Amino acid sequence: MNKIFNEIIAKINESEKIGIISHINPDGDNLGSLLGLSNSLRKYGKEVESLSVDGIPDFLKFLPGLDRINRDYDEVLDLLICVDCSDEGRLGSGIKFFNDAKFVINIDHHKTNTLFGGLNLVDSKASATGELVYELITNTDLPMDADIATCLYTAINTDTGSFKYSSTTPKTHRIAANLLEYGIDTEKINSELYQNNTYAKIELFQRAVARIKFAFSNSVAYTYLLKEDFEEFGAKKSDIEGLVELVRDIKGVEIAFILKEEPTKFKGSFRSKGDIDVSIIASGLNGGGHKQAAGFNVIETDIDIAIQTVLDEIDKGL
Ligand code: 5GP
Ligand code: MN
Repeated sequence: MNKIFNEIIAKINESEKIGIISHINPDGDNLGSLLGLSNSLRKYGKEVESLSVDGIPDFLKFLPGLDRINRDYDEVLDLLICVDCSDEGRLGSGIKFFNDAKFVINIDHHKTNTLFGGLNLVDSKASATGELVYELITNTDLPMDADIATCLYTAINTDTGSFKYSSTTPKTHRIAANLLEYGIDTEKINSELYQNNTYAKIELFQRAVARIKFAFSNSVAYTYLLKEDFEEFGAKKSDIEGLVELVRDIKGVEIAFILKEEPTKFKGSFRSKGDIDVSIIASGLNGGGHKQAAGFNVIETDIDIAIQTVLDEIDKGL
């Protein structure tokens, strides 16, 4: 493992224009890893562009370094670092940085990762990309401080479902404990992440909960949200955060999915409990992810047909 850390630092040292990029629909692990590494590289003395290709969810707006996010950067990079991206398709409009960059480093924990970088720090046993950024920092001369630790704790906390998922290992807890040693305010972080919902979000959830349906002897539960639901309540795209987990957490449910209407398709999320690997089912639906959390895309504009498409794919997988 030390070899890859040294190779990454060597690349960082020899590069002038460095960019670290988010993915579409960024989550806590993506932005926490992006900002944790950006803050650390700046403290190390490097100029870094923190590149965002999508909106920032409200619940992540407290992350230190977010004010340095650059949406207008348009130059060719010596080094592009992708974090929490299983493949370059997840970069959305950021693909131009990928195509033009002289070198790409890929830091990720998706087992479906395509190893698209010139250097790949990819480990599917890591609970979050934030764990890998932590290891990169602590195994090299890169600095750590309370702000960086806040970003990495957020990354790990959000991707493990607050340390609940089976991806959480003794090492995950050891890393979290070490991050706490930097004096981070975990009560504030958790309050920002989970205790700050707008009422519009609750109304959106009410609508979605009212629509929950079951299939396969109640082992599968699902719901959906249309564009007009978001408009009716003045809810934001990111207000969907937490909904699929709520559906999953129903007693007896083994697979949950939600569908969200987008201009030419439905964007879907799967969650599972126990041994069911939803990343395999998602792979059959233009998606991918982890065993217990995966995303997919149904290229269809009729909700009933979209639901049936997903149910058929689950049927094949079960
Ligand atoms: P979520 O359901 O929270 O959007 O995503 C769950 C997991 O699946 C995350 O790790 C996310 O990166 C991944 N994921 C979400 N959408 C897609 C997709 O369209 N393609 C791939 N390959 N992974 C996705
Ligand atoms: Mn992740």
